[in-house]
Amino acid sequence: MLYHVKERNTDVNKYEEMIPYLLHWYRFHARVLPWREDPSAYHVWVSEIMLQQTRVEAVRSYYHRFLSELPDIAALAACPEDRLLKLWEGLGYYSRVRNMKRCAQVVCEEYDGRLPEEAALLRKLPGIGSYTAGAIASIAFRKPEPAVDGNFLRVLSRITGSREDISDATVKRRMEDELRAVMPGEESGALNQAIMDLGAMICIPNGAPHCEECPLVHMCEAFREGLTGEIPKKAAKKARRIEERTVLIVRSGDRILLRKRPEKGLLAGLWEYPNEDGTLHATEAKELLIRLIPGICIEGTRKLKAAKHIFTHIEWHMTAYEISVKENPELTLPAGYHFAGSVERAEGYSLPSAYDKWKLS
Ligand code: SF4
Repeated sequence: MLYHVKERNTDVNKYEEMIPYLLHWYRFHARVLPWREDPSAYHVWVSEIMLQQTRVEAVRSYYHRFLSELPDIAALAACPEDRLLKLWEGLGYYSRVRNMKRCAQVVCEEYDGRLPEEAALLRKLPGIGSYTAGAIASIAFRKPEPAVDGNFLRVLSRITGSREDISDATVKRRMEDELRAVMPGEESGALNQAIMDLGAMICIPNGAPHCEECPLVHMCEAFREGLTGEIPKKAAKKARRIEERTVLIVRSGDRILLRKRPEKGLLAGLWEYPNEDGTLHATEAKELLIRLIPGICIEGTRKLKAAKHIFTHIEWHMTAYEISVKENPELTLPAGYHFAGSVERAEGYSLPSAYDKWKLS
């Protein structure tokens, strides 16, 4: 027991020791990012949610487009769902933006349209976890809160030489509590951003870290022991489930058949090309279309390149057919189906990036 207490104190001392080095390094090496120009709570929030699961470079253009249409929380709360999904198209993980809208509505009702300053209150809002709450509270409101994500856990484990499993929620919570006790007051936002930048550029997650450029190299146990390849320790990920699907790209003149996905589950509420479980051959694909849209008249079928799409826990292995059908204004489509032209598709229908594999005109 005594040994355990001593270890933890040693770690906390290291956390405290690293802070001035990181703040100094950040002054000269901070990345120039659009959301850092005016770090209001709304801007920090939008950028942090976009950055979950998405690379910084990809987020830049989405961030500008999103803010030019939804410049504040009230605009986000009032944005129609289809438009919101369209603004998020390409970023994936659409539940993030749905939660943002729900959160914006709560903030308008309960906080007069302004995000609260305290991390404890932020954490109670829909879609805001402890990392995002820490980022908003520290960067926008200068509160002494850590924003602990994989970057922070990786750097902390490496400097202390810890072999604890950082995917274990108890380990994460304990490191977070220990850090909270040593956060540097009003400079906490700078410290959190320093770790974000160090984790992105120097103490990187994949491949060898650039220890020779690191401001913490003199105090890093993993570097000293040659263990940067083994630390941080993470439990092995579960293998993804593979799902075979057959996708129908149905063309009627210059319009393509779209179908709305259910309001719950994977890619909820988005539009898609009609598809079905399994790998169908051409005749089965045509039979499927006739079953889905009774009365449709098929003119031709062409097999397209197979494609794969990776979600967090699932992999879609897709067989695809382009099926041309006769234009028929009398044809009644079942609920949830719609033939959309290219302009209509570009402006009003959000398709998940899983279907980007086939470029359509
Ligand atoms: Fe990471 Fe290397 Fe710096 Fe240690 S010295 S924190 S392993 S980059």
